[in-house]
Amino acid sequence: MFLNFFKKFFSSRNDKILNKLNIIVDKINKLEPTYKNFTDKRLKKNTLIFKKRLKNKEKLEDLLVESYATVREASVRVFGMRHFDVQILGGIVLNNLCISEMQTGEGKTLTSTLPAYLNALSGDGVHIITMNDYLAKRDSDKNKILFEFLGLTVGLNLPELSFSKKKKAYLADITYGTNNEFGFDYLRDNMVTSKKNQVQRKLNYALIDEVDSILIDEARTPLIISGEERDSSKLYIKINKIVLHLIQQEKDDTEEFTGVGDFFLDEELKQVYLTERGLIKVEKILVQKKIMNQNESLYSSTNIKLLHHIISSLKAHKLFIRDIDYLVQGQDIVIVDEHTGRIMKGRRWSDGLHQSIEAKENVLVKNENKTLASITFQNYFRLYKKLSGMTGTAYTESFEFRTIYNLDTVVIPTNRPMIRRDLSDLVYMTEKEKIEAIVKDIQKCYRTKQPVLVGTVSIEKSELISKKLSILGIKHNVLNAKFHKKEAEIIAQAGKIGAVTIATNMAGRGTDIILGGYFENKNLNQKDTNIKNKNFNITHKDWIKNHKLVLSVGGLHVIGTERHESRRIDNQLKGRSGRQGDIGSSRFYVSMEDSLIRIFSSIKIINLMKTIGMKYGESIESSWIDRTILNAQKKVENRNFDVRKQLLEYDNVINEQRKVIYKQRNILLNKDHILNTIKDISKDVFLSVIEKYLYLNDAKSSLNNLFCLEKFLLKKFHIKIVFPDYFKKKSEYYKNKILNLILRKFQINYFIKENLIGFENMRNIEKSIMLKKLDLFWQEHLSDMEYLRQGIHLRGYAQKDPKLEYKRESFIIFSNMLESLKYEVILELSRINLSQFDPYGNKEVNYKFSIDNKYLKKARKYFLKNKNIEDYCIEYDNLTKNTLRNSLCHCKSGKKYKHCHGILK
Ligand code: ADP
Repeated sequence: MFLNFFKKFFSSRNDKILNKLNIIVDKINKLEPTYKNFTDKRLKKNTLIFKKRLKNKEKLEDLLVESYATVREASVRVFGMRHFDVQILGGIVLNNLCISEMQTGEGKTLTSTLPAYLNALSGDGVHIITMNDYLAKRDSDKNKILFEFLGLTVGLNLPELSFSKKKKAYLADITYGTNNEFGFDYLRDNMVTSKKNQVQRKLNYALIDEVDSILIDEARTPLIISGEERDSSKLYIKINKIVLHLIQQEKDDTEEFTGVGDFFLDEELKQVYLTERGLIKVEKILVQKKIMNQNESLYSSTNIKLLHHIISSLKAHKLFIRDIDYLVQGQDIVIVDEHTGRIMKGRRWSDGLHQSIEAKENVLVKNENKTLASITFQNYFRLYKKLSGMTGTAYTESFEFRTIYNLDTVVIPTNRPMIRRDLSDLVYMTEKEKIEAIVKDIQKCYRTKQPVLVGTVSIEKSELISKKLSILGIKHNVLNAKFHKKEAEIIAQAGKIGAVTIATNMAGRGTDIILGGYFENKNLNQKDTNIKNKNFNITHKDWIKNHKLVLSVGGLHVIGTERHESRRIDNQLKGRSGRQGDIGSSRFYVSMEDSLIRIFSSIKIINLMKTIGMKYGESIESSWIDRTILNAQKKVENRNFDVRKQLLEYDNVINEQRKVIYKQRNILLNKDHILNTIKDISKDVFLSVIEKYLYLNDAKSSLNNLFCLEKFLLKKFHIKIVFPDYFKKKSEYYKNKILNLILRKFQINYFIKENLIGFENMRNIEKSIMLKKLDLFWQEHLSDMEYLRQGIHLRGYAQKDPKLEYKRESFIIFSNMLESLKYEVILELSRINLSQFDPYGNKEVNYKFSIDNKYLKKARKYFLKNKNIEDYCIEYDNLTKNTLRNSLCHCKSGKKYKHCHGILK
């Protein structure tokens, strides 16, 4: 009911939007005759004119009509392709912080040129985000011709680029690359120690191709840059043994049926929980093995990590299945993406899960990684001033796009009516019967030479079907999303007569299947139809023959071997057929053993199937079953949405902190020096030191307290100070004076050092110490936050809301971190050892020894204000008093000491 209402509401709203936008399309069309008469040079000049108008405070929106008409005319001249009106519609939507839903084959690549051109006019950069490097290169190569024709530059951001090439790619008007690469560059830019090593400019406009895949499917795995941390492989191996033991016992118990186990699984949520009995048992073993102390609880805060190890090892054994969730390749565990079946080489599960699986599979347990920087895609893309995306399948996720990214979804009509036949699902009792039926369907197509695309949910399923086809002698291709370029070429030919292609969901996505096989469009405009297509040895005439042949056998037939957890992925598969008004068909096969049915649908459907009493190999088609499957899919979609939302809610906390730290970092990088910051934070630090000491013991022993403070300052900060006796009696009263005295002493010490090593050097040292500490503390903080997050669900037991607790505690941890950071910076600056910067020890430091008056003045301005310079001189004397006045100065200036560093004596 709700769905129908939503559909109606959505479509009438969609129609209203489209009606409005069509008025703009008309305006663009009206410009066509004028632009047609322009010479190429004049058309190109439009770019300059638009740029100028923008500078004169016109808005981007004011230029939309003219700029889109310019791009369309340029495309006609360069590609021989005139943007269809629906593509213009899609392009307008993309400029409006929206997602364009456009079916496969509708020409999204060409559509993207419109908003990319318009938004690049500002000169702030446009990023076009693709799913893999192959597509980035393909699309940039293609569209570059058009953009350059109009006088814009295009860059390609690939992982292997050198620094200077990467920087150049970012400086281009339009830059192509993958979400991973842009995200990682952002993180890396916030780890560099000099501004000139940053590659990105401000994040202006991002246009994401296959936006659902990037913002939804990939949103659960954050981008992480990590460095290796301590070796805890032994612990993983030990815990693995304990868990194996537990699982074995559980099996024995189950056979006897004791009723209570040591743990239970929640397959739906992919969670494992220890029962009370399991907990006691594990604690006992851990104590026996001396991994945990007697009388301790696994739930105590000190053992949170151990508990976490146990849980992740249990997960590794019970919820992660080899060849479905991961592959073992040599000594590596390689993740298989659960939504797409794509192999994610190099990615590792976090929270110790990867190590637990390594221990389970008896391969080398790699060191645990320490997160140096991380961000979710949600939060990365929200950094752009303007965001938009396009895909064939967005509508089912429009709620998520709206709530998380503030993006509306607009469904663009197809250029020609869609005539693909979507046949209803065939439902079997067992997987075996289902596979047999699928193979029969393929065989039928093969006989009539109808091209067929078989979509599977995993590599394992692809291989199973492939084996069966080989036995029957059916020639076919298998794609596993491993080799993007090669697979794109194969998928481009999947519409050839008699072609059989088996592909996991992701394989070849982004490449259009043309009936009759791939044929480069450019040639379609050529009058001479006998010219051979440059990549494929075929003439246009032959291609038309092939195309017609495929049409005569019914176009592309798509077979879904399973209903996917998400309707969107099923729609993507279907959408491979029926492009640009082609004929075609699709059919999904389902069995009662499919995990979607087994886990998520009601037991009623399985019982019903049993009561019907179906014979082996028989299937049923029923709208009731279709509805049940749909409900199961919606259930999973909601669950996945919740998981992503939860991730985001937790990530938002750290995101705010990340913003603070990165902002500080950028200020640090951009400033010439941070002397004033150092001054400010030294005040904070010493004030908190004083406060700690004044109340160290009770007020009566304030004398003792100040005495301790003196000792502490000397030991830690190398500040020698003796407070007058009358301070000691009433220390609280003199708090401000005490602070001023300390600050003054600190500044004098500081100044002496500065004088020795030079103003510039000191400023560099300040900056580098601050930066180093900031990074170090931030990284530590990321680990702390991870542990907090892992342990936070335990608060649920204490009737507290884990999310609120997480927010509260992370705030405290963050404030403490900032306090410690300030403290450490001042501490390190107070303790810089001058010999570190001695020319004998460190040749790189540029010495500036003579004390000139200009310098003294500057120093006085910063530190001493109107105070007497005498203080400084006395300290300076003390430092150098052991040198004989007539001996050569230690700075190797060649001058006598009395004329050089001893000049003030
Ligand atoms: P999508 O990404 O939407 O699936 P593509 O961008 O791959 O589609 O385009 C599909 C095919 O349609 C390409 O071969 C492209 O050259 C062609 N095409 C796109 N727009 C036009 C147009 N306006 N006129 C002619 N051919 C077009």
